[in-house]
Amino acid sequence: MSKPPVLVTGGAGYIGSHAVLALHDAGWRVVVADNLSNGRREAVPDGVELVEVDVGDGAAMARVLAERNIGAIMHFAGSIVVPESVSDPHFYYRNNTVASHALVGAAMTAGVRHILFSSTAATYGAPDTVPIDEDTPTRPINPYGWSKLMTEQMLRDIAATGAFNYGALRYFNVAGADPQGRSGQVGKGATHLLKVACEAAVGKRPHVNVFGTDYPTPDGTCIRDYIHVSDLASAHVLALESLIASPSESFTLNCGYGRGTSVLEMLDALDRVNGAPVPRVMGPRRAGDPPQLVASNRRLVERLGWAPRFADTDTIIQSALDWERRLYA
Ligand code: UDP
Repeated sequence: MSKPPVLVTGGAGYIGSHAVLALHDAGWRVVVADNLSNGRREAVPDGVELVEVDVGDGAAMARVLAERNIGAIMHFAGSIVVPESVSDPHFYYRNNTVASHALVGAAMTAGVRHILFSSTAATYGAPDTVPIDEDTPTRPINPYGWSKLMTEQMLRDIAATGAFNYGALRYFNVAGADPQGRSGQVGKGATHLLKVACEAAVGKRPHVNVFGTDYPTPDGTCIRDYIHVSDLASAHVLALESLIASPSESFTLNCGYGRGTSVLEMLDALDRVNGAPVPRVMGPRRAGDPPQLVASNRRLVERLGWAPRFADTDTIIQSALDWERRLYA
């Protein structure tokens, strides 16, 4: 299979940087496009070019793509915090949907034939039943989910004209850090459960809040399907290979383990891995949280032959904690 140069938008960010590592490790030529609004220069490994550019600048992106002879794009750049999308939806539609529209236009101008898009389980909203397969109706309950679903729709309609093929990977809850310690989650105002809890474990914050204990779940807290970021990154490399090998086929795939873990189960596991209890404060529900989101990953496994390596919950937590300790030190 040919390995054209790949452009990774948001490649200096959390998930994007792990995809860059996976591509680089597998011998792909990678160019990162990132405006460093959330990403960090240090997250881009040696030997990978970083272009500081806004993905929403279509003219600039078309030049970057053409000059580097890019054959495929992995598009991670965007905003991902649900409550922020509720308070500032205009920004979310601009930074996610409108910027993606510009990027897709640039890709068409430059003749890029393959696009892999970071989508989300938030496109499903709050389904009544789990596990969630890709045929579950998409009914987002927040602007973040809509901003991603609108981009999916745009890709679907344009791919139908034959301009390119695309893959939409719908991530469940991404967690953990590179097992070799080369990258991990960095961010000022962390909001995601394991990141926040690890910050509490290393003393960066006094405690972790538990948002809601009265959900219709066995222990009353929300259930999520936490996937190790490096397993997600390996799914991206496989998805890219599939797009190149089957250029007339596009796909939408859930990315999760098909395993539900409650907030309290996560925190109990963290206490165990940490070797000391992390202070928790039980509190009210956070707006917009569906009670449970668990993926069916049958299609991901069957279509791509994906074989996760870091699925064990303690392994996910250990990697996140190691990374947090390194950041704190
Ligand atoms: N959560 C929590 N305390 C926190 C952060 C999150 O109890 O400090 C809960 C949140 O209410 C949800 C689950 O953990 O039930 C996962 O939330 P997260 O923000 O990590 O991801 P989301 O599912 O919203 O994308």
